[in-house]
Amino acid sequence: MSKLMLLVALLFVASFCPVSSAQTPFPRVSKAWPTGTIFAPLDLPAPNAMRNGAGSPGPAYWQQQADYVIEVELNEQSRMLKGKERITYVNNSPDELDYVWIHLEQNIFKADSIGAQLSGQTAIGMKNASGDGMIVTSVSSMGEALQMSMYGTIARIVPPKTIAANGGQFVFDIAWSFVVPDKVFRRFGAEKLEQGIVFELAQWFPAMAVYDDVYGWNTLPYIGTGEFYTNFGSYDVKITVPRSHIVVATGVLQNAGEVFTAEQKKRRDLAAKSDETIMVCGPSEVGTQGSRPDGDGPLTWHFVAHKVRTFAFASSSAFILDAASENGILIQSAYPKEALPLWKKSTQMLKTAIRGYNKRWFPYPYPVATNVNGPEGGMEYPMIIFCGARKSEAGLYGVTTHEIGHNWFPMLVNTDERRHAWMDEGFNSFINLYSRPDWPNVGVRARGTPANMARFMRQENLAPIVTQPDRLDRRHLGIIEYSKTALGLKILREEVLGAERFDFAFKKYIQRWAFKSPRPADFFRLMEDAAGMDLAWFWRGWFLTSSRLDQAVVSVSQRKKKEGAKIIFENRGAMVMPLKWTITYGDGSVSEHRLAVEIWFNSNRIEVPIKTTRKIVQVTIDPKVRLPDVNRANNAWSD
Ligand SMILES: [Zn+2]
Repeated sequence: MSKLMLLVALLFVASFCPVSSAQTPFPRVSKAWPTGTIFAPLDLPAPNAMRNGAGSPGPAYWQQQADYVIEVELNEQSRMLKGKERITYVNNSPDELDYVWIHLEQNIFKADSIGAQLSGQTAIGMKNASGDGMIVTSVSSMGEALQMSMYGTIARIVPPKTIAANGGQFVFDIAWSFVVPDKVFRRFGAEKLEQGIVFELAQWFPAMAVYDDVYGWNTLPYIGTGEFYTNFGSYDVKITVPRSHIVVATGVLQNAGEVFTAEQKKRRDLAAKSDETIMVCGPSEVGTQGSRPDGDGPLTWHFVAHKVRTFAFASSSAFILDAASENGILIQSAYPKEALPLWKKSTQMLKTAIRGYNKRWFPYPYPVATNVNGPEGGMEYPMIIFCGARKSEAGLYGVTTHEIGHNWFPMLVNTDERRHAWMDEGFNSFINLYSRPDWPNVGVRARGTPANMARFMRQENLAPIVTQPDRLDRRHLGIIEYSKTALGLKILREEVLGAERFDFAFKKYIQRWAFKSPRPADFFRLMEDAAGMDLAWFWRGWFLTSSRLDQAVVSVSQRKKKEGAKIIFENRGAMVMPLKWTITYGDGSVSEHRLAVEIWFNSNRIEVPIKTTRKIVQVTIDPKVRLPDVNRANNAWSD
């Protein structure tokens, strides 16, 4: 029996043993909570056939599908990306659609974009935005030109005829171009290095907005901080680049024999079965004759991806490329020589991170994973991530495991990042907590410790986690959406439910919503359903409000030499948590105690009788500092 189990057993006995009239009922309460307490049921949307009361997709669950066939050409000199695409949009909804919305996210770089106007106020601002954004040269369906109305980063297109419900299709073509800004912006960009420019390209093509059962068309603009909410679909993408370039992308490369030399292809095939990292294009080969296939003019790289929510790629003549295999998944790293020697470890880092997530939560759902070094500090896309670290090993593993962790949240469990950053950044930061120690000397992030979180939570007027990220105080994005969410789930796992009970529920959440789109209410419901516990108090205290925790020991009374002592505890904040404390006795021994959160059901003040004749010299709440108690001065009593 573990120490924890023993403790639970003892508390059970303490709670339910018959109480004689001379004894105090356990625990005795006073000072009732005001009505509308922290324990009241949450006001969640009514369950329905799409999203049931257990927080799972119901029998009528549907989502839209958007498949893309894209041809794009990158001009290195002008930094122009020019493409044409065919979108096959499948309307699986029960609603007829007589207009559709698309995202033109490159328009954030226009000088008059909302993102530029808000620059300085948002966490990720578009300072110095300039350029023309996305130039759409034609929109048509079956050869018939269509009207497009553009409003900032979104545009409306009216199909020639209404798209039928329950499987109707709209097939249309868009031709477009844009110039990659010469400054480094968040999430993508270009960086000029000694052996060429590294292009990291994302949000680079007109993409379908999401139509769903909760909001209809999701048309929130791209302002900067709020990320993406996209449809699953298949991508068939042909990328034409200068012959000197190596391209890595979302998806499986279809024509390795055409874009690699025979020797490189041989090494790549070997790497696909190797635990050890194998150089496909080594540092000494970059920029040399014979390192690229013979011939003149550009080369076209062909990638195909299925069940992905977007498509990103990177292209450069400066890329060194290495690869290995993790259980059949091709793991690659593409980086310039400026990233040496650190990046020789990148592929093994990516293997380590993926192995950890596979084991703990859910198998990596794709056949390829690539880490890219370039201008972007850290950004995630399906099967490909951008990591900027070049010096620190802990920094590179930390960013790598974070960005690849996003292939679970939100690439697999496809949430609306523009509204609910905590469901991707926070859940990912939570799984990162257990992945970081998998690489030597990485450790946890200090800002997420309970003590640091308590310091942060002492501030007035903090926004709750559920705030739309574009509306957050720009200084608070990281700590509220990432760290506070991660710490909340850690506390739920380790202090409230226990690891086995939490993991069962959290894995169910991933399984049931894999390749689907949950909303916050679905998460709250599913965790309660699968963990078997009413957690309204937890969601309200930690996620829905900016409540604070302040547990206090008020007094300890003990009659000399007689059995029985009495400790009075109070919960002085709006947040509630289980109560854990230790008692230190005069003989130096220490006992550990825990009471369930339900002790605060009727009161914020409890009396706990302790059966002992030993002298109590100290009582300490949460002695290991597992909770962010905002006032630790009242956590200890000593004689
Ligand atoms: Zn992230």
